[in-house]
Amino acid sequence: MADTTNISWTDSTHNLWWGCTKVGQGCDNCYAAALDRRTGGNHFDAEPYKRLSDHYWRQPPKWNHKAEQVGKRHRVFCGSMCDWADKQGYDDQRDRLWNLVRATPHLDWQLLTKRASNIRKYLPADWGCGYANVWLGVTVENRRQGLRRLAILRDVPALVRFLSVEPLLEDLGSLDLSGIHWVIVGGESGVKARQMEPAWVDNIFHQCQEQSVPFFFKQWGTFGEDRQRRSVVANGCLYRGREWKGIPV
Ligand code: SF4
Repeated sequence: MADTTNISWTDSTHNLWWGCTKVGQGCDNCYAAALDRRTGGNHFDAEPYKRLSDHYWRQPPKWNHKAEQVGKRHRVFCGSMCDWADKQGYDDQRDRLWNLVRATPHLDWQLLTKRASNIRKYLPADWGCGYANVWLGVTVENRRQGLRRLAILRDVPALVRFLSVEPLLEDLGSLDLSGIHWVIVGGESGVKARQMEPAWVDNIFHQCQEQSVPFFFKQWGTFGEDRQRRSVVANGCLYRGREWKGIPV
């Protein structure tokens, strides 16, 4: 959990536990596993996931209270260090999350997963057409796994469905964005980053425009638009000469 975050499409992060297991190409250079290792942990593909403290779980209600006071909704990315739909995770912590979500109506909870086939199994019994303050998302880093996740997500009831196309690893081809309310695109960062071709971004951008889906360009990553390796900050987030920060309405 963090009050603030450098993930530009959200306001804060919260996790159900700390740890995960790699499930595909998008996980190859997992930033969460690297952070875990840097901070002395071994909770990725190894030890049981770490449970988080009561103090940690008490932060989102404070964000909710503040959001109510200032009259501005606050986005919370749930799963910067875990995957909420991971079957190796803890069911009691998922129950705890749903109770928290119901108690924080001024927060927009952004639940992102690479385990799309588990989403329905782990939704709460009273989910119905979806909670008003939950956005469900899947990662779409490539065609083989990502497009299958997209198709699964489309059929799950939710008020907001989104795609995190990050790290974008290849041209995604033709996209059916029906039922999708938001697309985030970004390139990979880190020493082993894989290059994102500008033409792949163009393809997604045009399809979002054609299908009236808000487009959010997060970053170029380690390789800039000119394919040069630099810091993520130096490569920035300008696309076609401007920022793209589309958001679902
Ligand atoms: S699903 Fe996400 S957190 Fe889990 S290993 Fe893959 S990239 Fe890391």
